[in-house]
Amino acid sequence: SVEYATALDVFDASVAAGADDPFLWYFDGVLTFGQVDAAADALASALVADGFSAGDRLAIYVQNNPAFVIGLVAAWKAGGIAVLINPMNQQRELRYMLTDSGAVVLLTLDDLYLSVAEPVIASGDTAVRTVITCSPLDFQTRDDERLFAGATRKAVPGTVDLVELIAAHDGSAPPAPAFGPQDTASLTYTSGTTGEPKGAMNTHGNLAFNAQVYRDWTGLATGEPILGVAPLFHITGLVGHIMFAMIAHTPLVLMHRFAPDVAVDAIREHRPVFTVAAITAYNALSTATGATPEDFASLRILYSGGAPISPAVGDRMEKIFGTYIHNIYGLTETNSPSHGVPFGVRAPVDEASGALSVGVPVFNTVVRVVGEDGNDVPAGEVGEFVTSGPQVVPGYWNKPDKTAESLPGGALKTGDVGFMDADGWFYIVDRKKDMINASGYKVWPREVEDVLYTHPAVREAAVIGVPDEYRGETVKAYVSLRDGVSVETAELVEFCKSQMAAYKYPRQVVIVDELPKTVTGKILRRSLRDGN
Ligand code: ATP
Repeated sequence: SVEYATALDVFDASVAAGADDPFLWYFDGVLTFGQVDAAADALASALVADGFSAGDRLAIYVQNNPAFVIGLVAAWKAGGIAVLINPMNQQRELRYMLTDSGAVVLLTLDDLYLSVAEPVIASGDTAVRTVITCSPLDFQTRDDERLFAGATRKAVPGTVDLVELIAAHDGSAPPAPAFGPQDTASLTYTSGTTGEPKGAMNTHGNLAFNAQVYRDWTGLATGEPILGVAPLFHITGLVGHIMFAMIAHTPLVLMHRFAPDVAVDAIREHRPVFTVAAITAYNALSTATGATPEDFASLRILYSGGAPISPAVGDRMEKIFGTYIHNIYGLTETNSPSHGVPFGVRAPVDEASGALSVGVPVFNTVVRVVGEDGNDVPAGEVGEFVTSGPQVVPGYWNKPDKTAESLPGGALKTGDVGFMDADGWFYIVDRKKDMINASGYKVWPREVEDVLYTHPAVREAAVIGVPDEYRGETVKAYVSLRDGVSVETAELVEFCKSQMAAYKYPRQVVIVDELPKTVTGKILRRSLRDGN
């Protein structure tokens, strides 16, 4: 059964369970549940005094910093909606999200404000009337060269200082807002591997439900720390880190942004038990300078989501981390998991396609596999996943047409194509829009990538279709190599050719230093396509 109605209920229950217990670890700084509660009371009271009312939007444009969590909880306490903005966004993208969401208050860090946000706010194009800032040094004392490169607290005239605001607060709580599970708690923008970003409306019920899914499916116990690898503005960070730490009443290790060497330091210092991140982040961690298997020994409950795991890479990572990495699958629109592999269970690999299962639907969730004619296909046959459940968003902010298109009748057309086997395990073949049409044959990039990953020289691989006069499209692969290995591209072509039908193998292979990725570590096939 569903335990909490709203995301704020989850947080309040955690504060009640132990206000003095650590909630956020940020380098050498720590904030307890009670301190975050008090800070959020202060910010929420200031918002209300500033005229912020029910349903108003507070934009959060911050790296993985405690201010993010304070802002999130404060938005809820004031009855509003948190708009979560990628801190890597530049002016054009920031302006889009501020105007699209109609945010009236912006919470950001001093350096981000000065380098990016200030002209956007000054332009008057947005509805933002108040800016609140803090410094990455406010919640810790370490000036880490790798992350902040000589950062200093900067004076930012015209903005409200978050730390001063918290210090000056009289301890009172803002009037308790009335909202329920159907109300929007945050807007998370689809990270845009396809088209214009859309603000998915994460309801309080969505967030509370999937927090429970994370706790129940992973079996993480109270007090076992979570390593925050994913960015907090992304649904994996919001739900798999923040909401999960709240419901499990457990500390969350934050580290500004993901850098493998910094993460290894944080692991040594805080001994986290759980994380969830794209498999590319595990790959990066595994090659961090000076990292040893003992460093990773505390990480006992590991999940990978957001992008496919090739079975070969999964095996390689299991050896390095000394534990199996469980798959978890979902979209921004499903508030992170719709499917997952319960902790301690090994997901099957489909023999014919070589795909690793993404798991089974979580409780109260129904996933249809729909063919081109709109009807359900039988087990084993390929179709699009259409998902209904308590974690599915009701729609996109201000985009009724996109909502009607992707969420007809409230069921989400995921754009992911795959099948369910006779035992109920789900497998993704690929994303609908990434299909390559070579001489009329369907080629799914993931299958070709999985074969490339079995080559000992290959670290990461991405396969795309490129225009071809005779075939319509032809298959092209980009790969990065493992440290200290070299290989001829012709050998990689031959390697694929010997293992797949003639229409599938890549005619061209290009070796690059790094593949383009989103901040969550998802390999961006689209930007490779744009270059062709
Ligand atoms: P956009 O929706 O704009 O394309 P995006 O791809 O970044 O952006 P997300 O919601 O972050 O959007 O990603 C969801 C997609 O990630 C899923 O539709 C699926 O294709 C892929 N994905 C997520 N988890 C897994 C997994 N465990 N295995 C394979 N693919 C996954």
